Amino acid sequence: MTGNAARLHAVQNITNRQPSPPKAPEPLCSLWASDVFTLSKMKESLPKEVFKSVKKTIETSAELDVSIADVVALAMKDWALSKGALYYAHVFYPLTNATAEKHDGFISVQSDGSVISEFSGKVLVQGEPDGSSFPNGGIRSTFEARGYTAWDVSSPAYIMATDNGATLCIPTVFISWTGEALDKKTPLLRANAAMNKAAQRVLSLMGNTDIAPVNSSCGAEQEYFLVDTHFVNSRPDLLLAGRTLFGAPAAKGQQFDDHYFGAIPERIQVYMQDVEEQLYRLGIPAKTRHNEVAPGQFEIAPFFESANVATDHQQLLMTVLKNTAKRHGLVCLLHEKPFKGINGSGKHVNWSVGNATQGNLLDPGSTPHSNTQFLLFCGAVIRGVHKYGPLLRAAVATASNDHRLGANEAPPAIMSVYLGSQLDNVFEQIKDGKITGSLNAGVMNLGINTIPVFNKDAGDRNRTSPFAFTGNRFEFRAVGSGQSVAGPLVTMNTILADSLNWVADTLEGLLSSGSDLDTAILKTLKEIIDQHGAVVFGGNGYSTEWHKMAVEERGLANLKTAADALPVLKEPHIEALFDKLGVLSPVELASRFEIYAEQYILAIEVEAKLVVSMAKTGIYPGALKYLSDISATISSLKSNGTELCNKRLVEISTLVNSMMEAVDKLSAAIGQHDFASVEEHMQFCAKTIRPIMDDVRKFADLLEGEIADELWPYPTYQEMLFVK
Ligand code: ADP
Ligand code: MG
Repeated sequence: MTGNAARLHAVQNITNRQPSPPKAPEPLCSLWASDVFTLSKMKESLPKEVFKSVKKTIETSAELDVSIADVVALAMKDWALSKGALYYAHVFYPLTNATAEKHDGFISVQSDGSVISEFSGKVLVQGEPDGSSFPNGGIRSTFEARGYTAWDVSSPAYIMATDNGATLCIPTVFISWTGEALDKKTPLLRANAAMNKAAQRVLSLMGNTDIAPVNSSCGAEQEYFLVDTHFVNSRPDLLLAGRTLFGAPAAKGQQFDDHYFGAIPERIQVYMQDVEEQLYRLGIPAKTRHNEVAPGQFEIAPFFESANVATDHQQLLMTVLKNTAKRHGLVCLLHEKPFKGINGSGKHVNWSVGNATQGNLLDPGSTPHSNTQFLLFCGAVIRGVHKYGPLLRAAVATASNDHRLGANEAPPAIMSVYLGSQLDNVFEQIKDGKITGSLNAGVMNLGINTIPVFNKDAGDRNRTSPFAFTGNRFEFRAVGSGQSVAGPLVTMNTILADSLNWVADTLEGLLSSGSDLDTAILKTLKEIIDQHGAVVFGGNGYSTEWHKMAVEERGLANLKTAADALPVLKEPHIEALFDKLGVLSPVELASRFEIYAEQYILAIEVEAKLVVSMAKTGIYPGALKYLSDISATISSLKSNGTELCNKRLVEISTLVNSMMEAVDKLSAAIGQHDFASVEEHMQFCAKTIRPIMDDVRKFADLLEGEIADELWPYPTYQEMLFVK
């Protein structure tokens, strides 16, 4: 079934759908982490000494005592068997934003032909998936296949239950036989360790003696779209590229602002509850849910956790969102820009650093001017974002995210920091060389007796800033909806480590030349704001004035496309940064550039091919049919009205011709393959292929508004966004 018949069928199916009967949610206490091998389950099942040792590794990153692995493996296996698992899987995170897993059975065949369940410490600690099919960016040739997965004790094992059975999942790192990181977890653990080391230096210079390990935290707000499966199945672009490559805007979009925080449609709420129940079982603290700005767009935000666990949980959350959607006859789109003309989806990564002894190091308290520890950490972030803004941009550079960043959407591609009025003021004072006080946040008194008076936040919010301070954390808002949060967290922790080391070096220098601590801190802070204050911006990040000012007066980079941003990874000072801090070796960094550049090119080429095929096999035939209908009408009319029909015939033919000319140009461009470098190829994709795709679309979308609805081959924006 094609064209309008398929669309009608889809709409009918959706409207006739029998809603699944509502089911009362289970109490949180019986759901919570029931599928996780938690510390408390370990405590119950492990000998005391073994438990203490594992706990110490998890909580303080102390070295893992491998001799206990057998005991842990046995307890883990017994627990998994009790949950019905027959298989276990080492789960890892290759450089594709996806989650990978290799399943093995607990089954062990004995010499007498009987079987037992077996799971030793050795297989818990280390696995060996054939790594050759994962992107490695030139680290190894395909014939060099050996890759290892190694148990990450700090991220708990869990049961992934599907209709086909349960699997014990063990989070792991993924490395090559030569020891290079082939995944996203290894550098995250290393970046966190580098940040901890640098933070310890600063904290001890501040006079602290009891300093627990410093860890980073992450709370990621995930935006997504839901579209009925019936529609997606008849849209090749949504099926293969995750976004619409054609589609005229519906008469109604998001202009009424009636969707944001609106009442959640029943069907969606049933879906959300299903998602949340699974997340709770997996120990993922889903906390906030709401409608987003665009019709059909929603958000889920779990409570923040340690960055490593939050990253694993974020991957799981994306998997659960997608799998659960299928069961509800929906498709969950995690693309950054599924629909033109309405908001795209991001993932705001809320990030802070802290420890058990000094608390959240990005918490200013109520009088930030006197909280020098906070000011140093906050200043270190400001320095990092200024010095390495282009690197942060590169960390969120994908073909799909280009549709948000640099495309007049939230947020812009220019990396700046929003502090809010209270902190702006404190840093102004530092600039003047003297800290006098903090502006008062004040209270909100509405003068209505039945409404309580409450304390206001010290600063307003700025929705246009890519890197905003939001009270006790920074919120990196440029991360893409479908992206792993690992890359951004690696980047943030690494640049913070670099800045904290600079702070420690500077303080040490000043103290050893006789300065007292307060003077040394003030001098250090002043140098930060003098050298790096240009990155602080509190105004409208979307405005053309800012784009001009940022680049021309403040010297900030505006890297509009991933083709502009990714080459940053090849710059010598970036290589030195990652190498010096032990986060990524030059070889590992170079491999990341190769992989991300290739993914960018492939993504755009796949889309371009889809544009060609949809235009040729769907839109063109539909338009021709309509033209032939008009021609037939003309010949059947005597004379009255022919003029009108002729005019339409000419207008529509012109559009069809223009579209097909652009299609031919696009086909030719896709066929082009000799490029001097990957950089050149990326630029070709950004500057030649994409604009021609836009051209084809422009004519196709105009045609959608001209030809008979019953001949239009694809579900429309109106149907996909509003029929639920
Ligand atoms: P908003 O949409 O207003 O930014 P949300 O409540 O949707 O806020 O999301 C805020 C996210 O930030 C949540 O995941 C929350 O747990 C997280 N968060 C709160 N405090 C911190 C912190 N100190 N460090 C990291 N993340 C935090
Ligand atoms: Mg937010």
